Amino acid sequence: MQEKLLNLKEIALKEIKDTLSIEDVENIRVKYLGKKGEITAILKEMGKLSNEERPIIGKVANEVREAIESEITSKKEELKNIEKQRKLLEEVIDVTMPSKKVRVGKKHPISQIIDEISEIFMGMGFSIAEGPEVETVHNNFDALNAPKDHPSRDMSDTFYINSELLLRTQTSPVQIRTMKNQELPIKIISPGRCFRFDAPDATHSPMFHQIEGLVVGKDVTMAQLKGTLNMFVKKLFGEETKTKFRPHNFPFTEPSAEVDVTCFKCNGEGCPMCKGEGWIEILGAGMVHPNVLRNCGIDPEVYSGFAFGMGVDRITMLKYEIDDIRLLFENDVRFLKQF
Ligand SMILES: [Zn+2]
Repeated sequence: MQEKLLNLKEIALKEIKDTLSIEDVENIRVKYLGKKGEITAILKEMGKLSNEERPIIGKVANEVREAIESEITSKKEELKNIEKQRKLLEEVIDVTMPSKKVRVGKKHPISQIIDEISEIFMGMGFSIAEGPEVETVHNNFDALNAPKDHPSRDMSDTFYINSELLLRTQTSPVQIRTMKNQELPIKIISPGRCFRFDAPDATHSPMFHQIEGLVVGKDVTMAQLKGTLNMFVKKLFGEETKTKFRPHNFPFTEPSAEVDVTCFKCNGEGCPMCKGEGWIEILGAGMVHPNVLRNCGIDPEVYSGFAFGMGVDRITMLKYEIDDIRLLFENDVRFLKQF
């Protein structure tokens, strides 16, 4: 029996040595040491041995079992290491492989138009002023000479935060802030976001963009306003663009005008874009109302000014022929990458 055990040990150790996978090592363990294993079977027959033989064989059997178990453990360890090395080699990064494509974004069409308009005015000596989107009711309405019963003050048109604060409905409060805080003469434009209580549709969005301009100094005239805007539209829409000033009424300017430009698509001939009119309305303008100057501590007897404002979203839509304002804010990359 002793010989049989030692013989099994030799065979088992050789088998373990020759295995190539952890699974096979485990199979060998079951084959020899499992419940129905060959070594186990021999140990079960120990009862048949004499009292003298039993401890001797028992000792040998234990040694054989320990030898096989220890060989199994070290073989498993060895195979694990081989597997680890193989994985490491497999995962080595090949720097010569082509990389994944990185998609570079671009400026939003509204930002492009704001930049373009800002550059035109900076070329005429304007600087850029910015203000907060949460404004005081005073700066947004009162200081701008808006009558107490002006419809735009209504809760249904304006997002109020409380009785004194609101989301600005126009960029004009920046003009108030500038006139209050800056030395004269003033020559600024103020681009930014504005908010009105509008249900979104093809031409309305509760958030939109404006650019306003303000010039205040001595002897600032309506002729200068017209000259400035004429030069601006030529730069933005093309050299042949003409303007038309139509009398209008704004609380913060007097006189006031709405300004149309000849349709840059049909050159004034009439087309679907200008609805056959040949003209497109793009901005409002006028001479700063004396009350507004007074509200900002500027003497209207000595100083005068002009102001203008335009909707950036509308100009973006006109320029890129976009027919729904909501497209500008959905941020669908497939749409945005066209511009
Ligand atoms: Zn047209």
